[in-house]
Amino acid sequence: MAGGLDLLFPPRCLMCHAETAPWQATPARHESWTSDHHPGPLDMAADPPEASDPFCPGCAAEIVAESCRCQRCGAPGDQDACRGCGGACRDWDGIAVLGSYGGRVREAVLRSKRPGGYDLLVGLADLLHRRHASTFRLWENDYIVAVPMHWWRRTLRGTNAADSLARRLGRLTSTPVLGALRRRRATVMQNRLPADQRRANVRDVFALNHRGVVGRRVLLVDDVVTTGGTLAACARVLREAGATAVHVAVIARADLAGDDRGVDG
Ligand SMILES: [Zn+2]
Ligand SMILES: [Zn+2]
Repeated sequence: MAGGLDLLFPPRCLMCHAETAPWQATPARHESWTSDHHPGPLDMAADPPEASDPFCPGCAAEIVAESCRCQRCGAPGDQDACRGCGGACRDWDGIAVLGSYGGRVREAVLRSKRPGGYDLLVGLADLLHRRHASTFRLWENDYIVAVPMHWWRRTLRGTNAADSLARRLGRLTSTPVLGALRRRRATVMQNRLPADQRRANVRDVFALNHRGVVGRRVLLVDDVVTTGGTLAACARVLREAGATAVHVAVIARADLAGDDRGVDG
């Protein structure tokens, strides 16, 4: 059935809409999707995440163009000589980043937040998972928690990227998604504030919504990290509630000052 549909509607790249190669159920190809499969409550072995690659090779290469990053703070470069944190970032226990928030990655993130952008967001989540599958396994998180969006902003936008991302990563890693956090009030968008005011802007904004994180390891998910103030505030609430580890996964990190147009965080 899937093969027949591919003939009628050949799979297309979510970014440039070029036709991509239809999925072949060869053992090698299937293995590449499932070799990182970690047996869990959901059996996904019979359910490959996508019937075709979400992006053409050119777009995928541009999105995942990066070399190494500090696994503590996420800054580009070598962790041992990290100019961002010196390898000593204490805001969270580790971070997985797909790419730098610029060029193709910025274009993809902004498009994924617009109406109809859900497939693109899922494609980005798949790339993030493929790139960091071994790290996610190593972290052994018990729950995935999305950075919560205030209800009126969610109503305004109609989408919640962090939530969709959390659900997709939850499915790919067989990890349950927990609504462990809530937002007490809406905040001024972080990217509209000078960097030195951003941490104060999100102080006391987040509160615990579910005590399930006590004694558990948590993967905190957002679409973009800028100064890290929002994620640090969320991680603090989770740790104070008794989470034993808080790791972070994001699609993109704004590595350069002023690189955060159109995002919050
Ligand atoms: Zn493409
Ligand atoms: Zn660092």
